[in-house]
Amino acid sequence: MNNKNIGIIGAGIVGLATALSLQKAGFKVTLIDKEDPGMGASFGNAGLFADYARLPFAKFAMMCKMPGMLLDKTSPLSMQGRYLPNLMPYGWEFFKACFPTRYAQGKLVMRSLQELAFDTDQDLLSLTNAQDLIKSEGCLGLFATDQGLADARNGDLQERREQGVNLEFVDADQVRQLEPDLAPFYAGGVFYPDTRFTVSPVELSRRYASHFSSMGGDILQEAVEAIQPSEDSVSLRLSNSTKNFDQVVICTGVASKEMLKQIGVSIPLVSERGYHLSMNTGEKSLTRPVGWLDNSIFLTPMEDGVRLAGTAEFAFEDAPLNHKRAATMLDHAKVMLGETPTINSTWVGSRPSTPDTLPVIGRLESHPRITVGFGHGHLGLTFAAITGRLITETIQQQTTAVDLKPFSAARFN
Ligand SMILES: Cc1cc2nc3c(=O)[nH]c(=O)nc-3n(C[C@H](O)[C@H](O)[C@H](O)COP(=O)(O)OP(=O)(O)OC[C@H]3O[C@@H](n4cnc5c(N)ncnc54)[C@H](O)[C@@H]3O)c2cc1C
Repeated sequence: MNNKNIGIIGAGIVGLATALSLQKAGFKVTLIDKEDPGMGASFGNAGLFADYARLPFAKFAMMCKMPGMLLDKTSPLSMQGRYLPNLMPYGWEFFKACFPTRYAQGKLVMRSLQELAFDTDQDLLSLTNAQDLIKSEGCLGLFATDQGLADARNGDLQERREQGVNLEFVDADQVRQLEPDLAPFYAGGVFYPDTRFTVSPVELSRRYASHFSSMGGDILQEAVEAIQPSEDSVSLRLSNSTKNFDQVVICTGVASKEMLKQIGVSIPLVSERGYHLSMNTGEKSLTRPVGWLDNSIFLTPMEDGVRLAGTAEFAFEDAPLNHKRAATMLDHAKVMLGETPTINSTWVGSRPSTPDTLPVIGRLESHPRITVGFGHGHLGLTFAAITGRLITETIQQQTTAVDLKPFSAARFN
């Protein structure tokens, strides 16, 4: 099959990483996005290359906690009432993914991605000269009480260690030495020495985009309105024109659900909105990302201030920003910092989330000229580079570095 001329829809971090990988492999690549590169979910993340994330969210213990969390207005989990019907197929698949065999399989699969993620990222960062945007200072996850820490130590943290995560338990004194400007709200926590973070997610996307362009890649700023696959090409109807490609890659984040519906593929993808507040913390500074894990929020020191990120709000992508959620996050940040920071901006965006925590990566069985890479949920920055590599190997018809069966769109059939 002729496959030299490739169109990628979506210039978020996943589409950009894929474009660079395919370009490096010798393909002629056109990247199409209705916005500037990196302005979707990739704009607003907490900036962590989360090497420690090797456990699926879907497990029965989590499912049992969910109703209570949804009722508690201060918990990190919430739902827009009108969004409920969209959650039904997701909820059913989430339930199925909670079974111990599926959970164990999910762990294996996440570990296999993580084991390749670091080197694949490094390749991309050196290719694009973006290392200056990355810091290797590790990351802290803290608990307010001894009980919370002990539960995590015997539960998730133990499991993470078994999954090959490099982690150290730290007591309150050690936390103070690592981050002296934090208020003493913590009993202790976990330090992940290998975690890296970016000081500007959007600048990282821009750096990737500008390298792609400088190497002859085309970026079109247009919305894709329709996809028409045929036997020997794929035609994309854009707002102002129609373009034909030998193959197309769909990397449209949360919009991928609607995009695929057009061509008869149904995925229980949901919009799991997250918030960030960009803050000026005055004299107080942090060296590395710090999570308050009881409240699922992170403070990350970025180029333009400290970014407070978190919350999982199941809601339509265009629902209005919920100021109460932002205020709750700010209350937690005040406790962490021991003072009230100034807010520079507040942002909300949609994580593209699948019920089993695994992204959807690979060629569509029903449309062999279309390959997909979306559904990275909380881990799109972490898994962008490895996704690009796996998509490139797929299009080159090579054996992929990781078996793509657990990531296939068909797993939800
Ligand atoms: C608050 C928050 C914190 C997070 N923290 C982290 C973290 O620390 N580490 C981590 O790894 N991940 C994190 N994530 C998750 C991560 O940001 C996402 O998984 C990732 O950005 C998804 O990237 P993407 O390229 O798939 O989607 P997006 O960045 O959303 O890109 C999709 C692109 O497709 C374009 N598009 C959509 N429809 C069309 C169309 N019809 N025509 C043309 N273009 C179209 C959009 O304009 C957009 O640019 C966080 C997310 C949030 C919200």
